[in-house]
Amino acid sequence: MRKKIIAGNWKMNNNKAETAALIQSLTPFNFSAEVRVMVAPAFTHLVQAEALTQGSRIEVLAQNMNAAESGAYTGEISATMLSSIGIQKVILGHSERRAFYNETDESLKAKVATAITHDMEIVFCFGEELDQRKAGSHFEVVKTQLETALFDLTPSQWSKVILAYEPVWAIGTGETATPEQAQEMHAYIRDLIASNYDQALEDSVSILYGGSVKPANAQSIFSQPDVDGGLIGGASLNADDFKAIIQSA
Ligand code: PEP
Repeated sequence: MRKKIIAGNWKMNNNKAETAALIQSLTPFNFSAEVRVMVAPAFTHLVQAEALTQGSRIEVLAQNMNAAESGAYTGEISATMLSSIGIQKVILGHSERRAFYNETDESLKAKVATAITHDMEIVFCFGEELDQRKAGSHFEVVKTQLETALFDLTPSQWSKVILAYEPVWAIGTGETATPEQAQEMHAYIRDLIASNYDQALEDSVSILYGGSVKPANAQSIFSQPDVDGGLIGGASLNADDFKAIIQSA
């Protein structure tokens, strides 16, 4: 039985004090044992977040990392650096990284491999652009993204992967995929996993939906049979909204 997962991606928002305040308003919250809650603050606040969430069930993840082990990559953060401060989870492939920092399915494949080597759990983001959805190529786009970056993992390595389907046209736009559109894509992804692996893996992989999830639409999306929760951007910056979304899971 897959647990629901609600992950907040705080992006490049909040200073140190604001991040602490947001975490401190979440840690006393008593959410269901069937739900995992994660938050992804900026790199500069990860140490603080790790300390403030000790003793709570809130899990902390990074928003990105470099594929290389170490070296001359100015401004970058490695898996070893994250591990050394107790961070064993990372978001990879967010559409903003793909769009603004030229991340590709191939470069993400390398990041995934590094994360797996370091025994890190990965929230792997992917999804089609608006023109691809309009052209009807969204299934093909998602297939290529997953095949390139993930489908040479072994079944046991998949235990470290959480998928996050995020149609780019729905991120930060207020435009949400309908529950039916989300379910249709998630079911397609499970079929893809079954045809590349087997039924057991299809059933075990968590697939989150991301894209303008708010308290008002969360329940209708999360109640779809193949949707295992959400990756939440804007609404995760407001403690009351994020808690309401967690309660909808
Ligand atoms: C995201 O950035 O992953 C996201 C889903 O953002 P928003 O919820 O703001 O659309």
